[in-house]
Amino acid sequence: MEVIKKVLVIGGGVAGIQAALDIADGGYQVILVEKTPSVGGHMAQYAEVFPTLDCPQCILTPKMVDVGQHSNITLLTYAELQKVSGEVGNFTVEILQKARKVNHKKCTGCGTCWQKCPEKVPSEYDAGIADRAAIYIPFAQAVPAKPVIDTEHCRYIKHLEFVEGETEGKRPPQCRICERLCPAEAIDWEQEAQTITEQVGAIVVATGFDLMPIKRLPEYAEDPDVIDGIQFERMLSPGGPNAGVVRRPSDGKIPGEVVFVSCAGSRDPEHGVPHCSRVCCMYLAKQAMLYKHAVHDSQAHIFYIDTRTTGKGYEEFLQRTMTEGTVYLRGKVSRIYRDGDKLKVMGVDTLSGKQVEVSADLVVLGMAMLPSVGAKDMAARLGIATDEQGFFTESHIKIDPLESTRPGIYLAGTAQGPKDIPDSVAQGSGAASKVLGLFARSEMTPEGLTVG
Ligand SMILES: Cc1cc2nc3c(=O)[nH]c(=O)nc-3n(C[C@H](O)[C@H](O)[C@H](O)COP(=O)(O)OP(=O)(O)OC[C@H]3O[C@@H](n4cnc5c(N)ncnc54)[C@H](O)[C@@H]3O)c2cc1C
Repeated sequence: MEVIKKVLVIGGGVAGIQAALDIADGGYQVILVEKTPSVGGHMAQYAEVFPTLDCPQCILTPKMVDVGQHSNITLLTYAELQKVSGEVGNFTVEILQKARKVNHKKCTGCGTCWQKCPEKVPSEYDAGIADRAAIYIPFAQAVPAKPVIDTEHCRYIKHLEFVEGETEGKRPPQCRICERLCPAEAIDWEQEAQTITEQVGAIVVATGFDLMPIKRLPEYAEDPDVIDGIQFERMLSPGGPNAGVVRRPSDGKIPGEVVFVSCAGSRDPEHGVPHCSRVCCMYLAKQAMLYKHAVHDSQAHIFYIDTRTTGKGYEEFLQRTMTEGTVYLRGKVSRIYRDGDKLKVMGVDTLSGKQVEVSADLVVLGMAMLPSVGAKDMAARLGIATDEQGFFTESHIKIDPLESTRPGIYLAGTAQGPKDIPDSVAQGSGAASKVLGLFARSEMTPEGLTVG
């Protein structure tokens, strides 16, 4: 049987982008499937990235543009894998292209529609600290830079779907402002989801991670001023909702004291997460440093169990954070509660053995990294195994770390387990080299073995 020299990459974060580019540059066709309306993944949300404090947009956007324009890459955003059959060298995959309700061939990406849309919903890209319109691109550098209509929130679609006596509330107005104002006549209410069927020889899974929701840690208080690391990245980002001015959510005040909590959920079997999330020590150090650069005369405390900074240049980065005035407190936080205008963070300083209480205007939790929502279903669809935490299992943890448990399906990035950007990129390239090696063989024997 001939090997089909085309590959499916699932997930358009930095790992999937790297895998897609390396395979495409090797001369083979790639279908890159991303479930959200743009590629970029989590890295696109950050203010700056450790250890070099690069602006992620500066180093990621060129790669995002490349995957959007590469002649060997078919980019399917707002799409998801539905079904897989076949075997290594010859898989049949069915991909659901969700309805965008916008004709991307006609749309010029001028932005009139998303600027004028009256319906506002929490922005996923801004991790809920700002709103987006119901017709939207997720962020300014999105690829593709053409919008989709969020059918769950669009007023006109809700108007059409309203059934008197069955749907709650009043029938929403017709709206259709986007349609009236679109100079390219690109709004297409008739557009439906469609299934695309493709044959591929290999699959790279790079579906990334999601953070544990804060509500799983009730002892850390449900308070608007207790936020997670991604929300704080959006606050710090010059491209964020407040153009990099850090303001606490409850009243918009610039916080003078911020407490950062490591291992919020991670290394905590009681909350079902025994693993270390590997990047929190570093990103909390980065955030404390950036916060102190942004707000002069401010105070940053970091509670930690122990610091784990094993990458190149990482220990030096941590030392710099300490030298620049961030106070490290060795201990686990037991409780966070509100006391008037302030939050109180209680823990035990395990070096002195004393109970400590630190007051804060804002608390940032380094929440555990978990497999991306839907990873379990994805594993079932692909017929590959996951570990106890739901990360995809490698064929052999030491000598086959990029192979999944099914031949022809490879793993890259945080879909396999928590890791930083350099390791995710390295795995993206590694998975690509596995695919290129497979495609260097032209045929397969009936036993499924490739021959040169
Ligand atoms: C707050 C915070 C700050 C950080 N800062 C740094 C830093 O400064 N430096 C650093 O080195 N690392 C940092 N990291 C780690 C960094 O985020 C990860 O290493 C990196 O994002 C991993 O990339 P990825 O492609 O594996 O996953 P992701 O970035 O999660 O991308 C996965 C992509 O797959 C898509 N996807 C998911 N499921 C599906 C599906 N079923 N079908 C199609 N697409 C799907 C997602 O929408 C997403 O676009 C930070 C992490 C956090 C939480």
